[in-house]
Amino acid sequence: MKKRVAILGSTGSIGQNALCVIEALGPEYEVAALTAHSRYDLLAEQAERYQPAVIALTHPDFKPGYEAFSGGFSGSVLYGPDSLADIAVREDVDIVLCGVVGAAGLPAVLAAAGAGKRLAIANKEPLVIAGELLTRRAAENGAEILPIDSEHSAVFQALQAGRPQEVRRIVLTASGGPFLRSGRQEMEEATVEQALAHPTWRMGPKITVDSATMMNKALEVIEAQWLFGLPVDQIDVLIHPESIVHSMVEFVDGSVIAQLGTPDMKTPIQYALTYPERREGVAEGLKLEEMGRLTFEPPDLEQFRALALGYEAARQGGSAPVVLNAANEEAVAAFLEGKIRFGRIRELIEQTLETHTVREHLSLEALLETDGWARNRVRRLLELMETV
Ligand code: NAD
Ligand code: MG
Repeated sequence: MKKRVAILGSTGSIGQNALCVIEALGPEYEVAALTAHSRYDLLAEQAERYQPAVIALTHPDFKPGYEAFSGGFSGSVLYGPDSLADIAVREDVDIVLCGVVGAAGLPAVLAAAGAGKRLAIANKEPLVIAGELLTRRAAENGAEILPIDSEHSAVFQALQAGRPQEVRRIVLTASGGPFLRSGRQEMEEATVEQALAHPTWRMGPKITVDSATMMNKALEVIEAQWLFGLPVDQIDVLIHPESIVHSMVEFVDGSVIAQLGTPDMKTPIQYALTYPERREGVAEGLKLEEMGRLTFEPPDLEQFRALALGYEAARQGGSAPVVLNAANEEAVAAFLEGKIRFGRIRELIEQTLETHTVREHLSLEALLETDGWARNRVRRLLELMETV
């Protein structure tokens, strides 16, 4: 039976890796849909090569009749942000692979869960914002959520060595990013170029900045809470600069099961597609004899304050992670546009969290309202900064 895959965010780093994997897996896997936000040229190229039934351009500037697809693509073309959710529920889609960045993926992943699809999810932000809602909707509709985030794929694989009640804790590894050995002051003043120079992983700009602040790990702690149904106090973070051990699970008898591999997202993407089977790997194999040593150290929560903020938000629960995520998305966008220094990202998030009163068990509407409130708050703080 063919497995038809919709790739949401196919022009991004995860999306392009997913296309490589599907091509290597052979004819059993088929590209059913592709989407891009604004890179229509690359989307057109992908559409001509993979001939999906449908493609979508999500940026509101693109309107029906846009010229780019006149060439060798004969499927349908959708426009606007709502097209992601429309694609996620289509009958001719078996697996929804979400490689969109940020909260923008939320409606589509909720729709995929509601339609009982296999959801191969790289897009961590929806799990951070609406983990409770998303995992409940998936359970009610028989949808499977398979993590692509490398740490969560590692934990998912390691968990197969025991039963849920036998887990003592999970340990998410973190590379530490480009500023692991920088002084605090140097890190505060870092440039966009320095923040984008990740030592081990090649990823899109937003998650690369998140890795530099370690907000990425903060989001991953909350992501793990929902994916694995564990309280935050059973989720630890360990710095592992070589990015070979992708994460581990410690069981009650003291056994620690880890998953290792090269730092290449094709491995977790492939596993989320082929699970429960394993196939010949697309990524290069691991040569531990060439690695020398693998090292581990605890994170410095004073230097990487974003990680501490993540733990606090996770403990508070309810709307706190929504605010954490939305404030971070806005602050990172401002940093990437050159409007603020690196250290200001964390300050903006902290200032936004400080003025928020946490609410629990929110509906989707209330979650989105909180998300909007936090974004406005950051924009307002940025405006105030410009006027002084
Ligand atoms: P990217 O910036 O390279 O790609 C993002 C994709 O999403 C692009 O196809 C873009 O067109 C689309 N997009 C952007 N804004 C959008 C919007 N508002 N609406 C709809 N589509 C939009 O990002 P990436 O590095 O591939 O990361 C994608 C997601 O996967 C993120 O949530 C990230 O945290 C997660 N992730 C990525 C990696 C990695 O190695 N890149 C690893 C783990 C997790
Ligand atoms: Mg990760």
